[in-house]
Amino acid sequence: TIEIKGLSYAFGDRTVLHQLDLTVEGGSTVALLGPSGCGKSTLLKLLAGLLQPQQGEIRFGDRAIASPQSSLPPERRDIGMVFQDYALWPHMSVAQNVGFPLLMRRVPTAERLTKTMIALERVGLASFALRRPADLSGGQQQRVALARAIIAEPGILLFDEPLSNLDRDLRESLSREISTLLRQLGTTAVYVTHDREEAEAIANHIVHLSQGSVTAIQAVTPLSGEIA
Ligand code: ATP
Ligand code: MG
Repeated sequence: TIEIKGLSYAFGDRTVLHQLDLTVEGGSTVALLGPSGCGKSTLLKLLAGLLQPQQGEIRFGDRAIASPQSSLPPERRDIGMVFQDYALWPHMSVAQNVGFPLLMRRVPTAERLTKTMIALERVGLASFALRRPADLSGGQQQRVALARAIIAEPGILLFDEPLSNLDRDLRESLSREISTLLRQLGTTAVYVTHDREEAEAIANHIVHLSQGSVTAIQAVTPLSGEIA
């Protein structure tokens, strides 16, 4: 469970988040939907530990993660992140990109390689392990980023408009894949998007943000037949 209470953040005198409250139940996915500039990415950065709250607090389960007084660094938060621009390292192979979080954690090489292949299989890219990101399509690159985000089995996944650079068909198929993967893994997720259909395909709840506050929360009823 992610618990956000009274969270506020301003860049200089521009207040971006106002006293925001939000709970994400463990194992569920919340989509954040709202106009450009309403604070979605700022909220994700606060969850990731790239920014520190100026007011309020964030808890993951029974752990206090961030407040104005203290903030756990990103690498100690048990999170994975997927960005709009994939953020893959161009000089590394696909496998090196995916295995990098385990390299940082000093996981033994044999285990790292095994887990790299398992993560790549999960996203259907095992045969692309030795390629460079530049030789992959946009959709494939985003699958690599997804494999990298899940390899360390984080309790929480954060997505910032991961499919908005892809065309519509690919958005549809990848959003279904991500949704299936999230259910298989049981990961708690926060998913930022501009696209309502994508939000409905992936999330259990859609949270509408406007000017830094939650304006509505909507439960998503899965389409019949959609659940495998
Ligand atoms: P989009 O849908 O366009 O990605 P967003 O909801 O993610 O928008 P944020 O990136 O959270 O919006 O930005 C919220 C507001 O904070 C915007 O007005 C933005 O200009 C401002 N902002 C974001 N980052 C900074 C920064 N580093 N310095 C100053 N202002 C910033
Ligand atoms: Mg944004």
